[in-house]
Amino acid sequence: MKILLLGKNGQVGWELQRALAPLGEVVALDRQGADGLCGDLADLDGLACTVRQLAPDVIVNAAAYTAVDKAESDQTLAARINAEAPGVLAREAAELGAWLIHYSTDYIFDGSGQSRWQEDDRTGPLSVYGRTKLEGEHAIEASGARAIVLRTSWVYAARGQNFAKTMLRLAAERETLNVVADQFGAPTGADLIADVTAHVLRQVIGENGAEQLAGTYHLAAAGETSWHGFAQFVLAHASHKGVALKVAAEQVGAISTEAYPVPAPRPRNSRLHLGKLESTFKLKMPLWQQGVQRMLDETL
Ligand code: NDP
Repeated sequence: MKILLLGKNGQVGWELQRALAPLGEVVALDRQGADGLCGDLADLDGLACTVRQLAPDVIVNAAAYTAVDKAESDQTLAARINAEAPGVLAREAAELGAWLIHYSTDYIFDGSGQSRWQEDDRTGPLSVYGRTKLEGEHAIEASGARAIVLRTSWVYAARGQNFAKTMLRLAAERETLNVVADQFGAPTGADLIADVTAHVLRQVIGENGAEQLAGTYHLAAAGETSWHGFAQFVLAHASHKGVALKVAAEQVGAISTEAYPVPAPRPRNSRLHLGKLESTFKLKMPLWQQGVQRMLDETL
């Protein structure tokens, strides 16, 4: 099996390089491309040429315009990368008869209510990022390609910067720390997303009638918390491990979304219903604390 992986150095892309490796030949590209192959999602013609040249069995698109606040003033590029490029990939996949695996986000919802969002719930993005990601979903749907769209939330990775590491740094440097307490979701490790992707791929490739598995699924860790709860968990665990902090977990201030203004509005309710993914692919998603604890143990 030949897999074309785009966005190989992002949080999820990096973990996918590991998780997809046992499944076949993985041609992994970043924005710079390699060996005459284009990996830049802003270059729609180059992207289409690359797919034709490689003729992969599967395209996994982990690249996206993820600078949520910047997207508010950079709509054209965000739309090209998040909406048009997935459309190009999907049309090329349909032409080839290849599978497309793509990632989307809780930001396609308006964040109202407190229930977990189901896959076919009404969408209502609040930001340019959310809108362009939703347009990407629609473009894939319209292409007729065999595609799996995995919507996830609050992604972190051990590699590079992440919310947990930022909280650790701030709690060591500052006397006080305030964190938003009225947005709810589940921190989801890029490693978990990559492992589930590989599991899903194993089931769809080569299985008779696998077309029926095509569609949209919610992929996140189980359980829920707020950013405030996430920060408290991180600091409590670090302190338990003997890390010196000026702000203890119970001293983290809880603030409202309004008290932390940012250019792109965030959904308050990012809780994703996981039942469709779990029952279709026979999975049981682990609690978010498990992945965060593991990442902290590796980091500290
Ligand atoms: P990252 O920002 O870590 O990675 C995105 C990757 O896309 C980066 O490597 C980036 O490269 C690359 N990229 C950006 N523009 C281009 C371009 N024009 N051509 C090629 N590559 C490009 O994101 P994640 O790994 O966290 O996200 C993976 C998926 O999950 C995305 O679809 C995202 O929308 C979705 N998602 C992410 C969430 C999160 O909290 N991060 C939450 C919900 C969904 P470079 O570094 O060079 O810019």
